[in-house]
Amino acid sequence: MNPYPTTPLKANGGSTVLPDCMLVDGALVKGATTMDVVNPATGVAFAVAPRASAHQVEQAIASAKAALENWSRSDLAHRRSVLRDIADAVETNAGGLAWLLTQEQGKPIADAMREVQGTATFFRHVADAELGPVSLEHSGVRQVELHRRPLGVVAVIVPWNFPLLLMAFKVPGALLTGNTVVIKPAATTPLTALMFARLVASIVPAGVLNVITDGNDLGSILTSHPDVAKVSFTGSTATGYSVMANAAKTLKRVTLELGGNDPAIVLDDAVPADIAQGIFRAAFFNAGQACIAIKRLYVHASLYEELCAELVSLATGVTVGEGADSRTTMGPLQNRTQYEKVKGILADAATKGRIVTGGQIDDSAGYFIRPTIVADIEEGARLVDEEQFGPVLPLIRYTDLDDAIRRANASEYGLGASVWSSDVGRAREVAQRLVCGSVWINQHLDLAPHIPQAGAKQSGFGVELGGEGLLEFTQIQVVNIRGDTVQEERN
Ligand code: NAD
Repeated sequence: MNPYPTTPLKANGGSTVLPDCMLVDGALVKGATTMDVVNPATGVAFAVAPRASAHQVEQAIASAKAALENWSRSDLAHRRSVLRDIADAVETNAGGLAWLLTQEQGKPIADAMREVQGTATFFRHVADAELGPVSLEHSGVRQVELHRRPLGVVAVIVPWNFPLLLMAFKVPGALLTGNTVVIKPAATTPLTALMFARLVASIVPAGVLNVITDGNDLGSILTSHPDVAKVSFTGSTATGYSVMANAAKTLKRVTLELGGNDPAIVLDDAVPADIAQGIFRAAFFNAGQACIAIKRLYVHASLYEELCAELVSLATGVTVGEGADSRTTMGPLQNRTQYEKVKGILADAATKGRIVTGGQIDDSAGYFIRPTIVADIEEGARLVDEEQFGPVLPLIRYTDLDDAIRRANASEYGLGASVWSSDVGRAREVAQRLVCGSVWINQHLDLAPHIPQAGAKQSGFGVELGGEGLLEFTQIQVVNIRGDTVQEERN
């Protein structure tokens, strides 16, 4: 039976059961202790989540290890149907999941609903993926097949900006390829993962999928445990270094989706009125808390003022507020630490550039910052050099395109980038000179389950999504048979 209403729930509404259990070895279990979950729109705790002990993480890993043999040898058709059942359960409970996501993450309810639906879409897409084997040679000399085998127990560690969707980038691929999984969400957004755990508990065999929640203190157990074969991590570059160092000791496979400081370059032939909306959305979606948001905007001097005016006009049209209010188009920063960080970057920007519109909102207990446009700013300001991960966009003037490309590439990050122009051929030439994993032309932040995503430089290691991302959950196994011994089979 569906335990949650499919329509949005009322905050702390009478019949609503907030998820309060982790999933370990097929059982919904309490944590060793508990922790408060704060609604970032109010700054007030609205729920209590389980907080795992180190022992419970060990139990989750042990149960995933024990479940591996049966799951990895199960029919691929069975694993596909489990993924589809998960997608169905997410869709059936979309209203409750979206409400919870807005409460703990802050994003507007319509965006939360899109994230939930995207989660189901990613599960469904991977359920249909092809896994081979591939025949490399079929001759009298030899018959060679390339098979893909599971790696083992996969640790899935995700941040707080898209708690459900980023999990859905990883979990379906890990499961389809026969691995078992331990999921660990961020400490400030544990509830949607716990509700997901409750929904899948009756769908997935015991131990195949475990969900544990921590106080931001137990991730290193997952990344260093000898029984974890792979870590699929999304988070900051600083944590990524630690993940990779821990994983090295047992040669774990790692996929690291880390920070970004995506540049967008507006060429001198672009039409500001045509591109402003796309740029604005890519910079301010999710209150700027997206790894592949536009974080530096390089604008040719000839259209700088005009584009600035267009963006300011869009910024002033945004309704900032509590995500649960359907009129809200931008929610708060997700947590106090991030809020304080962005305020610090904003204060620095105020001394090095010109704040044209926006700024922090002081008369609220929530973590709100208005969409902020900062003009006349350049490298040397924290807003340009660091990953702001908030709703503050620097507009950097340039006159020489080669110089703009050099500056765009000067960042330690290399996640995404975009080029905006009326001439796609010209934009393509610029795009090919940008050092990053994804480059868009006349758009930014466009993602789909069949399109691989990867970071260059300090933005990461490995690939997610698409066929390439799926293969990262597998180990190659070559089966090579002497040709004359399979002669009969070939006939
Ligand atoms: P974070 O690195 O602080 O935390 C991410 C996750 O790692 C959390 O679950 C956290 O509890 C866990 N963690 C913390 N310390 C750990 C350790 N020592 N070992 C293992 N796990 C540990 O990141 P955040 O602040 O939650 O997220 C924001 C960052 O994530 C930004 O830098 C953003 O760019 C990045 N991000 C990247 C992508 C991408 O696809 N490249 C997507 C979204 C977010």
